[in-house]
Amino acid sequence: MRRLDPRAPLVFDSRPLGRRPGSMRAISRSVPAPEGLEAGLVSVPVGTPVELDVRLEAVMEGVLVTGTARTTAAGQCGRCLDPVAVPVEVELCELYVYPDGDARSAGPDSEETDRLQGDHLDLEPHLRDAVVLALPLQPLCRDDCPGLCPGCGRRLDEVEPGHGHDVVDARWSALAGLELDPERTTETEES
Ligand SMILES: [Zn+2]
Ligand SMILES: [Zn+2]
Repeated sequence: MRRLDPRAPLVFDSRPLGRRPGSMRAISRSVPAPEGLEAGLVSVPVGTPVELDVRLEAVMEGVLVTGTARTTAAGQCGRCLDPVAVPVEVELCELYVYPDGDARSAGPDSEETDRLQGDHLDLEPHLRDAVVLALPLQPLCRDDCPGLCPGCGRRLDEVEPGHGHDVVDARWSALAGLELDPERTTETEES
């Protein structure tokens, strides 16, 4: 297992709690986003500020960390491909068992990351899991974004009313191009 760097922004020192069940500390920190906060088209760029408001509480088996993390992910609108900023807020709730404690008391799901290493605990893996789950699969620039015209790729909120394309069989499209499109003449007269 890699050794924790006690100065890493997502590593917390449990010593001020003194292993006294019931003692707690509230910590607010702005930390730079670690790598890997990404899912599909959406990611939190490395270094983006993540606002942490957490509470470390000593319990019998270890240290319980609860709180919230807030940051902003960047992505592309799933319909028009415009860049979108996605606010992300996740709840954190993790029990870190003391190195010499009984991991079974933490429940059958406890993993190796759920242990304190020495006096320190690493919030990074849990922050990553929580943020990745919270990222939207298909963000939208706005709820009613109409997207792009499948015929020409223009934004559908910028094209003229009635905009459309005749569906022409590829085998005839070369021929069709030879004739003057009568529809197009009519449009010019109307406008
Ligand atoms: Zn859009
Ligand atoms: Zn079009």
